[in-house]
Amino acid sequence: MKTVCRMCHGGCGAIVESVEGIPTAIHGDPDNPTSEGYFCIKGKAALDLLRSPDRLTSPLVRTGPRGSGTFQQVSWDTALERVVGELSANMKLYGPESTVLGQGTDRNYQEWVFRLANAIGTPNVVGPAHVCFYPRVMASVLTYGGFTFCDYDGDPHVILLWGSNKPNTHSDGVIGIKLLRAVERGSRVITIDPRRTQTAARSSLHLAVRPGTDGALALGMIKIVIDEGWYDREFVAAHTTGFDELADHVRAYDIDTVARITGLAPDDVLEATRAYALAPRACVEAGTGVSQNENCFDTYRSIAILSALCGNLDAPGGDLIWDPMPIEGRRAFPRTDLLTDDQARKRIGGDKHKVLSMSGWVAPGDLHEAVLSESPYRVSSLVLFGSNVLASYENTEAVLKALAKLDLIVVCDLFMTPTARFADVVLPASSWLERDQIVEFNSYLAARRKVATVEGCRSDEEIILDLAARLGVGRHFFPSVEAALDAKLAGIGLTWEQFKEIGYIRNEKRYFKYRADGFRTRSKRVNLVNNALRAMGYQALPGFKIPPPPSPDLPYIMTSAHSRQFYNSEYHQLPITSRGQSAPRLTVHPRTAEREGLKDGDEAELFARPGARGVRMAVKVSDDVEPHVVMADACWWYPEESSIDASLTSSVNLVTNNDRTDEHMGSATMRGVPVGIRRAGAPLGRAKRAGHE
Ligand code: SF4
Repeated sequence: MKTVCRMCHGGCGAIVESVEGIPTAIHGDPDNPTSEGYFCIKGKAALDLLRSPDRLTSPLVRTGPRGSGTFQQVSWDTALERVVGELSANMKLYGPESTVLGQGTDRNYQEWVFRLANAIGTPNVVGPAHVCFYPRVMASVLTYGGFTFCDYDGDPHVILLWGSNKPNTHSDGVIGIKLLRAVERGSRVITIDPRRTQTAARSSLHLAVRPGTDGALALGMIKIVIDEGWYDREFVAAHTTGFDELADHVRAYDIDTVARITGLAPDDVLEATRAYALAPRACVEAGTGVSQNENCFDTYRSIAILSALCGNLDAPGGDLIWDPMPIEGRRAFPRTDLLTDDQARKRIGGDKHKVLSMSGWVAPGDLHEAVLSESPYRVSSLVLFGSNVLASYENTEAVLKALAKLDLIVVCDLFMTPTARFADVVLPASSWLERDQIVEFNSYLAARRKVATVEGCRSDEEIILDLAARLGVGRHFFPSVEAALDAKLAGIGLTWEQFKEIGYIRNEKRYFKYRADGFRTRSKRVNLVNNALRAMGYQALPGFKIPPPPSPDLPYIMTSAHSRQFYNSEYHQLPITSRGQSAPRLTVHPRTAEREGLKDGDEAELFARPGARGVRMAVKVSDDVEPHVVMADACWWYPEESSIDASLTSSVNLVTNNDRTDEHMGSATMRGVPVGIRRAGAPLGRAKRAGHE
């Protein structure tokens, strides 16, 4: 049966082979126009989700102290009644805003979570949006009224791969194979990344930028483009506002200053800018690498401005703004109209991280501060859909303290995680293989079809429907998930039954839409200077804060990245994905290793405060990083450990905090953290488990 993989955001076409209704094999679908048969190790491990003996298959109610892992199995009815009883009581006492919903990387149910929040009247939905996709989304929307995707099929001459390892990590509906195909057809890749990834090593130019300084580089590139006259004069005159103010603003970012801040050679900065700006067709693939520091929003804004100046917006082989598909999808389904203005104004952090708040999200740091201080009001309940916040959010210590103070924690997940272990009620969720969904991306709609059932589990959509009914807001929902899918598809005149037979509908690509309609901004132009931000109290032009320099105690700058076989904090318990790596790696340069007396395979501790608890990692010596940079595997945890403390001993978020956050988005500095390293004491690594090699 054909379906669409959701082991990550990518959306590769998948074919599941079954014998007597039981899936036996999974592989890529060669006929899928998006992925062309590509299928990565995570996709190949998907059937382990169905077979894993560690899957949660019964609702659990905590019977021992929080975090002890002592639970009692109960029926769905008992678990949901308990959740609804406590939520209702808490909301009656403290108001609907005292309930916070949360989600992780989303399995195509984000709009369901927001709809439930809006229906019950809470403005508070927390997630990793602040360090993931949303800084890019909001910077693009506020600059030119939409979000762009590289038009790889349009044969860009130059692809600027900025903080993104696209062939390894795949964003919504964008598969690295498209980039590789473009390269085969002659595209030149320039990579901006502190690490020499495999992609960087094969690029025509690699700028190993100092972590956290991409914003200075982007502003410097804008200055070069303006000074050299390499911008698209016609486009700038007809379709932008604020060019003179921008030109004045970037004067401070001369090439020598930029080189000093970023650690790059001036000639490399100049060459990268020349190649990008003068290419007849060029696009920028900016990834999460840029999202995780205090400059992230303005860095994306500068990158968006660079693209606009060079005339690459909506151009063939450039940065394409897709028309939305005509279904009731991510924009309409959340029903923001259900939330009153008074309630919306109560969003936690809304007065602080105003741009994130515009997108509907709450930053974890703001939530934890609110929980601990009970200001602006008491937060009583947290309901998490697929989110292991103890491993994935910055500042583990604050997360733990905040969780401990809540009256009710509910976690819906596939496996027991440190966060689920801390919950009062755990609801066993189904995997993507066990549910019907509409996959809605920029360039296509596709049907994810249910191929299996794991007894005892329910999809997040089913759980939300049930909770909505029991909480008395069922009138804002649907009688069934299929009825909701039918309603979503009404705009294209199909039912779910019909759509799943079709399987895939390609969106229509239209270039240069702004020539007829203008951009979807108030001025109809690209906002090089942003007066909306100015009115909100921010700088109208993108700024840059220089990160703190290394010190004798903290002589290195930490960046981090996810291992290819995992997806954020997921799949650490699956045999295929966890094979061959028993501990997270800390990649250090040979000179650093020598200085610290470390060698390959040694156990090291990474710390951000001398004397404080460190993160335990296995040393990998490599000149893939510069001597002043160390690279840590992110979101690591040990599923087999029975205590939260032991399972998180290698989580890099033990050394991240909320001290330096982006003022627009609340994005924590998770890359660009000054750190020290030291040799670790006791042995490191996961216990050998059945099913693991
Ligand atoms: S890239 Fe993502 S969507 Fe594609 S096979 Fe791998 S995990 Fe699945």
